[in-house]
Amino acid sequence: MKKKIIPVLAIGAMLAAVAAGCGNNEKNGGNEGAGGDSNTIGVAIYKFDDTFMTGVRNSIKDAATGKATVDIVDSQNSQPTQNDKVDLFVSKKYDAMAINPVDRTAAGVIIDKAQKAKIPVVFFNREPLADDMKKWDKVYYVGAKAEQSGSMEGELLVDYWKAHPEMDKNKDGTLQYIMLKGEPGHQDAELRTKFSIQAIEDAGIKVEKLAEDTAMWDRVKAQDKMATFLSAHGDKIEAVLANNDDMALGAIEALKAAGYFKDNKFMPVVGVDATAPALQALSDGTLLGTVLNDAKNQGAATLNLAAALAKGETPTKENAGYDITDGKYVWVPYKKITKDNMNDAK
Ligand code: BGC
Ligand code: CA
Repeated sequence: MKKKIIPVLAIGAMLAAVAAGCGNNEKNGGNEGAGGDSNTIGVAIYKFDDTFMTGVRNSIKDAATGKATVDIVDSQNSQPTQNDKVDLFVSKKYDAMAINPVDRTAAGVIIDKAQKAKIPVVFFNREPLADDMKKWDKVYYVGAKAEQSGSMEGELLVDYWKAHPEMDKNKDGTLQYIMLKGEPGHQDAELRTKFSIQAIEDAGIKVEKLAEDTAMWDRVKAQDKMATFLSAHGDKIEAVLANNDDMALGAIEALKAAGYFKDNKFMPVVGVDATAPALQALSDGTLLGTVLNDAKNQGAATLNLAAALAKGETPTKENAGYDITDGKYVWVPYKKITKDNMNDAK
């Protein structure tokens, strides 16, 4: 057999590509990258296969244009993998890091590595413990107030309960509900679960939990759980609360399979995020409401803070475009979304 010889033309093309400045590629070694400045920011996402985080990731990439080069990597839902990625960022001497922790209690270890290497770090979406945040002054967090999203989610059901007395199917004055929880320990899972129910009770409505389980933010897992809850509780269920839209959409699939959303059979289902498929479900009339988790601003704030830090600056409203609270937090507000105002979330 003849040995394969790389044609001269191809070599020429390769050289031209190098000359045209594909240095970005070289730096990020096949991972996703964007930008165009001499400063490089290493970005680690807890896992790429997450609908909401895909929105944040795209926003980081967009915001980097003209400001910094980003090397965005997938931690594949494994903290050891993420720690290896951080080691790699350190060995490449990147100018700043933006980390979406797999396990938020692991932030302390990452901060120690960052401080030792003098590389500032911005955490996002998964909030490190307050004690870890205090470890070093070049540590920041960009996120949203989980309590707020929980309260808003509860209020969506309160509004519906008040306008639709038929929601109380068994006329006992109590709201019988199902709770689909995100990953246990995640601030958004714990606080949305708590504050959504609290908002309902604060409105003077009695509640009864028929079932609660985690579906790990995942649509398919939520569909499975909901199918099980439906066979156990059936028509007793008066509402479904999910900690995020993917799980709400999974629940809707199970409800559809059980005959809901046709022939006047309705179930109020609420979620959080306002992802594109959730907005579709709002306009279809299956999802009752959601809460905008602003991926665009969370991504932009994360990038802007990291870019300022990479330049050796202290992030401020002036150089980063967002208010900094307590010297190290950026809080992006949530917003209630129903069919009526869904354009606000697009
Ligand atoms: C979102 C979820 C997402 C999670 C990832 C939450 O803020 O609402 O959809 O899975 O973050 O950490
Ligand atoms: Ca009832």
